[in-house]
Formats: sequence, C-alpha cells, structure tokens
Amino acid sequence: MNNLTHVIAAVSTPPGKGGVAIIRMSGSGAFEIADRVFFPISGKKFSECRPRMQIYGHIIEDGEKIDDVLATRFPAPSSYTGEDTVEIGCHGGILVTRTVLEALLRQGAMPATAGEFTRRAFINGRLTLTEAEAISDLLEAKSREQIRLSGDSARDKLSRRIEGIRKSLVGLMSSIYARIDYPDEDLGDFTDGELLSSLYNIKEDCKRLLSTYRTGRAISEGISTVICGKPNAGKSTLYNLLLGEDAAIVTDIPGTTRDVLRHSVPLGRVMLNIADTAGIRESENMDTVERIGVKKSREMIEKSELLFAIFDISRPFDEDDQLIIDAISSTAAPKIALLNKCDLDTRFDEESLRGFDVVIRISAKEGEADALKLLQDEVNRMFTDEKIVIGQDAIISSARQHATLTRCLDHIQAAIESLEIGFAQDAVSGDVERAIGAISELDGRSVSEEIVSDIFSKFCVGK
Ligand code: GDP
Repeated sequence: MNNLTHVIAAVSTPPGKGGVAIIRMSGSGAFEIADRVFFPISGKKFSECRPRMQIYGHIIEDGEKIDDVLATRFPAPSSYTGEDTVEIGCHGGILVTRTVLEALLRQGAMPATAGEFTRRAFINGRLTLTEAEAISDLLEAKSREQIRLSGDSARDKLSRRIEGIRKSLVGLMSSIYARIDYPDEDLGDFTDGELLSSLYNIKEDCKRLLSTYRTGRAISEGISTVICGKPNAGKSTLYNLLLGEDAAIVTDIPGTTRDVLRHSVPLGRVMLNIADTAGIRESENMDTVERIGVKKSREMIEKSELLFAIFDISRPFDEDDQLIIDAISSTAAPKIALLNKCDLDTRFDEESLRGFDVVIRISAKEGEADALKLLQDEVNRMFTDEKIVIGQDAIISSARQHATLTRCLDHIQAAIESLEIGFAQDAVSGDVERAIGAISELDGRSVSEEIVSDIFSKFCVGK
C-alpha cells in the first residue's frame, strides 16, 4: 500500500466502454494535481471553485486537450476518504479514461491499490471496520436481501450496537478503576452486585447480537445446498427452476449431470449455494467419469447444510430411491423431500420416505408458484429468524464478526464467574479489559494489520 500522505488515483467505474467513467483522486495535494491538468471553462482555478459542485472544463496536458469533463472537489474531511478528494467524470471510452488517469499519474498521483480509498476512509475514521466490510459485501451483492443487509441503515444499526456494548464496558472499567486509583475521592459505592448486574446486561446484549449471525450468514454467505436424487428424477430441472435459467443440461438420458454444478441463488431471504450433483446409483454400466461424479455427490452430501432429495413420483419407489435415502440418512443437515412430477399420475409410495423434515409435492417442469413458495417459506424458517427486520435490526453476518463477538462474550462470562466466586473487582477488571479489546476489534478500533489487509483485499481498485 502507498504511504498515506501520497495522492492516489484510480478509475472507479468498471473497466470497459461506457457512457461516462469516474476517476477518483484522494490525498493532500489532490487539488494541486488537478489544477495542473483540469481547466474550468469559467477560467477560474479548480482549487478555488466551489466545493461539492460539478465544474465543467477541459483536461489538457502539454497544450493538448484530452477530454471535456465534469469535475468535483471534496475538501477534507467531508469526503468519502476524509481527505481532499477529486472526482472527474470523463467520457467512458477505454483509451480516453486511461489517458486522463495517466495525466494525473504523470502530475504526481500514484495508482491506488485495491480497496485503498475505503482503507483510507477507515484509517481517517470515516468508517468503522464493520461498515467497510458491509461496503465490500454491497459490491458483491447478488440479492435484494444482501443489498439491504449491507445498506446504510443496516450498517449504521450494527455500528451503533457495537459502540453501545463498548461504551457500557468502558463505563464499567472506569467505575472500577476510579475507586481503586482515587480511594480518597467521594465517588459513592459501586457494589459487586451492581457490577454483576451490569455484566449480565451486557452479556445479554452480546448474546442477542450473536444470535443474529444465523440469519446474517444465511443471507450473506449462504447455505451450502445439495440437490440429490436418482438419475432422471428431475434434479437439473429443479436446479434450473431455482436459477431461472438453463444452467444445467436437461435430458432424459440417465447420468447426464456428471460433474457438480454450483451456483448461488436467492430463495426468499436465504442465499442457496447450490450444487446439482450427479445421481447416486450403483450400476454395472457406469463409466469411470460417472463413477467419479457419484463419489463427488456423496462427498457433497456429507458437507451440505441443506439437502433437497428429489423423487420421481410418476414411477414406483425403487432401490435407487432407497439408495438416496440411505446416502443422506447419516447427515445432520435438514432434509426436504421433493415429490417431483406431480403433474403426472402418481405411482409412488410415500410411506417409504423416512427421516425428512419436510415433504413437498412439486412439478419442477411446470414450476407452479405455490410449491415454490412453500419451499421458500420452509427454507427461510429453517435458516433465518423471521422476527429480524433487515435494515432495522443490527445483524452480524461474517465469520470474523461472529468470532470476535464470541470472544467478547467469553471474557464477560469469565468476569461474571470470577465475581460470583468472590474475586475482588480489580481482579475481574482484566477480563473486562479483554472484552473491551475484543469488541474494539469488531469495529476496527484495535485490529491487526493482517485482518485489515485481508478485508480490504476483497475490494476492487477505485473503491
Ligand atoms: P436429473 O437426471 O435428475 O437431473 O433429471 P432431469 O432434470 O434431467 O429430468 C429428467 C426428465 O424428466 C427430463 O425429460 C425432464 O423434462 C423431466 N421432468 C423433470 N421434472 C419434471 C416434472 O415436474 N414433470 C414432468 N412431467 N417431467 C419432468
């Protein structure tokens, strides 16, 4: 990463041809660099133009005009990064965009690395780490729920909640230390009972926030889901129905899906990371490739968090169906039986089905809305808390947030236990301090360089 005092510049819009492209430049000295290449048609110097107003002018280098642009300056600290920032909207041709950027670089700006604008915003206190993570998720969002989860209001709610927990813990520490360090001051009593009850309240707050992870993870990271069933049961057809496109090849030759296809698709609030597997069957006629596919299917089933077992009810229940039931019986993942081809006459004995959490009749081919809605409701009920309102409630959604908050909770619990077996307040203060350390890591007040780098490496250049 560049030294923070350098001015950085990058194209912030996606690579390729477009109507307009935005070039962003940030750092102390950004206005001076802009003054050397950007000339407002008003004749005024850009650095003296009104801030946060789009200024029309020309990019000129060595007397040669490169483009007509609209440029805006955002003086520190009221900018995305908290530094002096310039945004130049130029024509979106690939070459013209690159030429404008190169003009800025020749005048002293340095190319920004991936996520460097947001990293600067974090370092300058414009964003907490959880807010930066949410922005990264927003850029990757594949569903409306993911957008809501990483939007402004959800980000704000989470930051406030974390800040609330941190402030409560800091309040406890100061109450303990004030009485130890200034015993002669008349600070009133702070009894063990009061400390204990405050710790219990903070513990409950942490637990409530932790409990949102189930929902947050189902929305943001998604649930690994396997569709299994004997060949020709309709796995690919269901997969395509959920995806809304013909992602898997649908044929009536058994064993067509030989490899494991994967795709993320939202089903209501939950993001399903679906693997459509080869069928599971035992046959003399299987070639080596299909055998490998079947082996992979079994491995995927073992690792899955949700199983859709699909049965063709236009045929009698047979040993291949039984093979599926046996293959999934040992996994702890919730299992949904989908009785497919319900548009055809039923020749299937439902009594043979064992160990399923839910059974739904469906026609994957016809894709009727009622069956899909039922499937959606069941899956959402299994993996999310319906009382949580995305955008209104604070929700944690990443493994990092979950691990850090769990650590905070463990330290609070240790403090409670020490107090309950009769330790003095100053002996308990170490645990409270460690809890503050953990919660501070959560919003990035104290977090290792490695974690910060890992988070910002997920960003693109220009963000
Ligand atoms: P897979 O081998 O389990 O992936 O099965 P496919 O999805 O390839 O489907 C096998 C055949 O069953 C294809 O000809 C599909 O069109 C047909 N099929 C799938 N679902 C249905 C359904 O709900 N009703 C009917 N009538 N046919 C279906």
